[in-house]
Amino acid sequence: MTVDKIDHIGIAVEKIDDMLPYYRDGLGLEYRGSEVVAEQKVRVAFLQVGESRIELLEPISRDSPIAKFLSKRGSGIHHIAIKVDDIEQALRCHEENGAVLIDKKPRIGAHDMRIAFVHPTSTGGVLIELCEEPQDSAH
Ligand code: ZN
Repeated sequence: MTVDKIDHIGIAVEKIDDMLPYYRDGLGLEYRGSEVVAEQKVRVAFLQVGESRIELLEPISRDSPIAKFLSKRGSGIHHIAIKVDDIEQALRCHEENGAVLIDKKPRIGAHDMRIAFVHPTSTGGVLIELCEEPQDSAH
């Protein structure tokens, strides 16, 4: 199993439309569109930063995990996503090392990536997302 890079940093915001002007126009990042991830009840806007992305996460319902995060902590960094080439192996590694996993099996996130979250109690207070490119992707 190899760890490739920071794939993206997820930032929880109340409204993407309010924050997009800063990231796109103020900071000058390339806006790559947005997508609804129904399972997590969020809309995600993608902004390219070199090989990585910033993802702005906006809740689309009150029971979205992002809505809960916002009401508890306000807007800010929600998670850091680390890209790996074998997410099952990465999860096994975490279990062997006693890390607390939110997802013991990968699920499907934005861009059809296979993702799994590691609990902040095991990581120094940061929600870590492991992610792997979809296996059927040709590139
Ligand atoms: Zn993410």
